[in-house]
Amino acid sequence: MRPEVLFPLFAPIQSLPKVGPKTAKALEKISIYKVADALFHLPYNVIDRRYRPKVSEIKNEGIATVMVRIVEHIPSQRRGMPYRVIAEDETGQIEIVFFQARPDYILGKLPTGEERLISGEVGFFQNKPQMTHPEHILRLEETYKLNGLEARYGLTASVHQKTIQNIVYHCLKRVPSLPEWVDETVLKRQGWCGWQEALTRIHQPEELSDIDQESKYYQRLAYDEFFANQLTLQIVRASYKKTPGKERAVKGTLRNKYLNTLPFDLTNAQQNVLAEIDEDMASSSKMIRLLQGDVGSGKTVVAALAALTTIENHEQVAFMSPTSILATQHFNELYESLGAIGVRVEILTGKEKGKKREKVLEELKAGDIDIVVGTHALFQDDVVFKALGLAIIDEQHRFGVEQRLKLSAKGEMTDILVMTATPIPRTLLMSAYGDLDVSRMTEKPPGRQKIETRTIPTGKIADVVAGLKRALEKGTKIYWICPLVEESEELELMSVEERFNLLQKVFGETVDLIHGKMKEREKDNVMERFINGDVNILVATTVIEVGVNVPEATIMIIEHAERFGLAQLHQLRGRVGRGSEASNCLLMYKAPLSETATARLKTMRESDDGFYISEQDMKLRGAGEVLGKRQSGLPEYKIADFYEHADLIGMARDDARLLLEKDPRLISERGKAAQTLLHLFEKDQVVSYIESG
Ligand code: ADP
Ligand code: MG
Repeated sequence: MRPEVLFPLFAPIQSLPKVGPKTAKALEKISIYKVADALFHLPYNVIDRRYRPKVSEIKNEGIATVMVRIVEHIPSQRRGMPYRVIAEDETGQIEIVFFQARPDYILGKLPTGEERLISGEVGFFQNKPQMTHPEHILRLEETYKLNGLEARYGLTASVHQKTIQNIVYHCLKRVPSLPEWVDETVLKRQGWCGWQEALTRIHQPEELSDIDQESKYYQRLAYDEFFANQLTLQIVRASYKKTPGKERAVKGTLRNKYLNTLPFDLTNAQQNVLAEIDEDMASSSKMIRLLQGDVGSGKTVVAALAALTTIENHEQVAFMSPTSILATQHFNELYESLGAIGVRVEILTGKEKGKKREKVLEELKAGDIDIVVGTHALFQDDVVFKALGLAIIDEQHRFGVEQRLKLSAKGEMTDILVMTATPIPRTLLMSAYGDLDVSRMTEKPPGRQKIETRTIPTGKIADVVAGLKRALEKGTKIYWICPLVEESEELELMSVEERFNLLQKVFGETVDLIHGKMKEREKDNVMERFINGDVNILVATTVIEVGVNVPEATIMIIEHAERFGLAQLHQLRGRVGRGSEASNCLLMYKAPLSETATARLKTMRESDDGFYISEQDMKLRGAGEVLGKRQSGLPEYKIADFYEHADLIGMARDDARLLLEKDPRLISERGKAAQTLLHLFEKDQVVSYIESG
């Protein structure tokens, strides 16, 4: 339940004076629905109206604010000529100029003989000062509105600057005084004021720098938002951890059998990560761990080992993949390797229907299936496990905190292992996955060849095709990725088909095509022929972006590489270099390249370190892009800027941790204040976790 002190902030924007349905509707375009939204709509600029000269003192062009008496109106003589108003103070005269304004409006605003405070840009015409379209014309009793510095806001087309300023002005009057939720030592150390003061200082700045992102007022507000986010993540995490888990000890029989079948030894990185997982699984609280490993670092083997521990403890494993191609691939891999040691592996995606599906469902319920690999279909309500001990989620960046919670509810004491090949920079990790324990695999299995990466202009496509002929003679498999067309799937389809036709003319039957519009079954067939059959060139859209593993493929061609983000290029490139042969990646681009695109391609040429690349990607594109557009794990900040305020994230995390350690139910005075903060940022659901906990 939202505390009463916050009610004024959650009042609809229409409850403000002079805000009607039309303005309210327009404000929705900039996500302002209620008082708090307007308050969090921070100004982007500030105009200095502190310069209040006498008329004769104005020597330079610029913003000036002067108190004048209106002397005379000189209406426009003919069309196109301005309407002029002569005004003066005791030192001289100034002309106020209007183009295309209604005379009655001007007469009403500037009645002859009266005094007005006017503010605006002053210019000079024939050496005489002129103010064209003053931004403010105030009667004496209104002059309080112009308090020196004026905040300016980002707008939507149909709302005036003044309207927003006015709205914010009234909103500020409604700001309640809230209890302090930030730790006192943090406040002191940072030299921060309280929330209310910070908010007021940014909307009604006293210094030009007050509205800067690095000002202590702005920092304070950004910190609040991070703090609310960190509290949320940690409360969710605590609620996982509080529900009892099962102690699942490594017995080792299955593990050893499996390890003996592998033609390689585990890397150090794999062993370390496995040790962390073993420890989690053996402990009495639930595992909730993120396994980060660059493409090809060998996560699947680790996942299989964790699965075996679960099975040895007489429980089942759900292995969830983002697409059915990947599910099929993982299924085949696990079926082959684990089936051989007596483990029962099944698959359940959207494609398994009717009898087949029913059979799988029955066997899952009866506990006859050890591992079920699948897509989202696994988490439908009618999928019931006898005892779900471990849920493995591959490429989990498409899930958010809420989905993770839902998933863990499938089994009573289910451990969760999420795996991602997207190397996530540290700050982003804290911000989006602070509820997970993290294992990183930075080392790759030995014997991998470096991928030679080159950039080449689109014009040279004939050379590329000629090169492919030579490569095919050596039995190479090739990916050809067609340009990303964000605006239109139709265009994207046209571009793959066009490329497919062209390559088929040259290479014949050995070329095939795969794209997102195809049915799952068709896609699987194509993949199957590429992996095992006579297809050697696969023309594709980004559907093959994640996870697909074809060790024989050693050439990756990406058309219009300049349209892709770094993380995506890295993922795509990771489809080659998976076998023992040297691999090549050709990034074809269309000139001229933007500065960002140039930087991206350069990074790709220079590095194949996923962590480094993702840091660069963050710098070049922004946090949301690193995780992909569709991801839902990344919180959207209203105030905080992920880059500018990155330093504050760690502080907020520590502060949240300390507070929750001392006061897990948030019932102390500061704890209650923190609850108010959570409500302020609309994390009401999270507050209910504490209350029910
Ligand atoms: P990821 O899922 O992290 O992208 P995979 O688990 O698919 O990587 O592994 C990529 C390839 O490397 C697979 O062919 C796998 O058999 C192989 N592999 C895994 N671990 C090792 C290892 N320790 N030594 C050699 N090869 C390995
Ligand atoms: Mg994998």
